[in-house]
Amino acid sequence: MKKPIVLYKRLSPSLMARLQAHTQVTLIEDLGDDGMAQLRAALPEARGLLGASLKLDAALLDLAPRLEAIASVSVGVDNYDIDYLSRRRILLSNTPDVLTETTADTGFALILATARRVVELANLVRDRQWTRNIGPLHFGSDVHGKKLGIIGMGRIGEALAQRGHFGFGMPVLYHSQTPKPEVERRFNARYLGLRELLQEADFVCLTLPLTAQTQGLIGAGELALMRPDSIFINISRGKVVDEQALIEALHNHRIRGAGLDVFEHEPLAMDSPLLSLANVVATPHIGSATHETREAMARCAVDNLLAALAGERPSNLVNPQAYQH
Ligand code: NAP
Repeated sequence: MKKPIVLYKRLSPSLMARLQAHTQVTLIEDLGDDGMAQLRAALPEARGLLGASLKLDAALLDLAPRLEAIASVSVGVDNYDIDYLSRRRILLSNTPDVLTETTADTGFALILATARRVVELANLVRDRQWTRNIGPLHFGSDVHGKKLGIIGMGRIGEALAQRGHFGFGMPVLYHSQTPKPEVERRFNARYLGLRELLQEADFVCLTLPLTAQTQGLIGAGELALMRPDSIFINISRGKVVDEQALIEALHNHRIRGAGLDVFEHEPLAMDSPLLSLANVVATPHIGSATHETREAMARCAVDNLLAALAGERPSNLVNPQAYQH
């Protein structure tokens, strides 16, 4: 008898066929009101869940007494209560590594777009406003040779450092919970405290997870430490930053600009002040959003879920402590 699972993310035909060969799939295409009702109806029998971008809290998961495994199609696991899952012996897996390079590409796209004002000036051309040679009013700032500050030197932080160091000749500064001697050797990188990094970097890039410790890590006080000509990049999670404080810093030109892929509330509200600031480049949480990478992430999640449901340890297990309960 195939185990029932709920899939709340569309898969390619080949991955869907693979999943259906081993499990009985309830597919929820859209997590609107109807989709959530469908999810609640399927949870009592569900042995597995596979998807992303849904806060799976205890109130929802208490409806799923038979649940064995959740395969998240993401590396970030801030949508899950890991202690709760572990107590219930539900195995949570994620999709690290396969999205690292693509997310670092997104980070660099934001660095370049913000510093060189690519979106603003491309819109000027599109709006047929390019009527004479542009002057200093429209100049941007250099990226090559500038100091790249990375907060959270993990997989994505390293991939960003690689691009900055080898591609753009940028001195790399970083801050993490622990120093990384190997990273320092490879990229000639320098470990700094958070304050010192904010004061020194030309580009301050967030590549750390959202946790109880990192929520609100960057607020008005931290932004005030940044130099007026520096640029803030966030490809981690919106809630790591006090968004109102960031808006004020940008509005008052306390910092030069921001490239943001993630926001406190997503999708971004239509009346967000971020949308009317010329010094902001905002993208709709596209860190890993390429055809190749999303397929690789989905494949990884399917592998993780099938392994867990077969009684094996999934390759990307987030909560090994579940086995201790
Ligand atoms: P990772 O390899 O686990 O790296 C995270 C790094 O953050 C680690 O180096 C860790 O330091 C550091 N860190 C954690 N807590 C910290 C703290 N309180 N202060 C300073 N540093 C801290 O994770 P990853 O694969 O690079 O992914 C990072 C995050 O990026 C994910 O969790 C996700 O939220 C986000 N992300 C976003 C997108 C997108 O679409 N925009 C795509 C992929 C990932 P230590 O090593 O010293 O512990």
